[in-house]
Amino acid sequence: MRKPMIAGNWKMNLLYSKVPEYLQTLNRELAANSRIRRDAVDVLLAVPAPFLGLAREYGEKHGILIAAQTIHEKPEGAFTGELSIPMLKDLGLRWTLIGHSERRQYYNETDASVAAKAKACLDQGINPIVCVGETRAEREGGQTEAVLKRQVEAVLRETGAASNFVIAYEPVWAIGTGLTATDEQAQEAHAFIRGILRQKLGGAAEALRILYGGSVKSSNIKGLMKQPDVDGALVGGASLDPVEFARIVDCQ
Ligand code: PEP
Repeated sequence: MRKPMIAGNWKMNLLYSKVPEYLQTLNRELAANSRIRRDAVDVLLAVPAPFLGLAREYGEKHGILIAAQTIHEKPEGAFTGELSIPMLKDLGLRWTLIGHSERRQYYNETDASVAAKAKACLDQGINPIVCVGETRAEREGGQTEAVLKRQVEAVLRETGAASNFVIAYEPVWAIGTGLTATDEQAQEAHAFIRGILRQKLGGAAEALRILYGGSVKSSNIKGLMKQPDVDGALVGGASLDPVEFARIVDCQ
């Protein structure tokens, strides 16, 4: 039985000064609304680096996990603007996204660099949420499975038997576009990814969570979560409103 995870990704949005209000509202909504037991779902927020310490202070005491949006694979050095794993751990944090399609698209992250980041995380006790997904052109060209296989296998080659990560399947054409994969498209891709994990990791693959991401809202989360291989969601735009984000947690 895999524990569902609902993760928010603020990207480069909101402000430091708004973090306490956001998290107080989210905590209040989660406490007030929850149909489901609060400890039956992991709720996580990936926030901009300058907000990490404050978000931890207001979030983690209420059981909301706080994550970075990316990390550098090297522990220290001349990498201006980057965030290291020791810095994240020093803040008491244990989670990060890696390989988000926006990082791949705008910052030249590759399968190899994402795999190196995943390995560095696992070696140093950080839980990575590894993002994978095909572009519209790749889907239309019948390349979806080949792309997912290439992206997932690149990570598995580096991390081997220690592959204890969360995967987020995020079709690039569904991110921030209002287009969501249908429940069936999501299940198909998730089942395919789990098949790759199974080939490399055997029974351990059954314990790994695969989140769906791409224009998730409270109005479409239910159908997605009914799919047997969808173990949660990575939510961008809709996570910026704590009331809507709490609804998504509550609806799943
Ligand atoms: C994301 O950026 O991870 C994402 C899924 O965004 P959105 O929900 O806005 O499509």
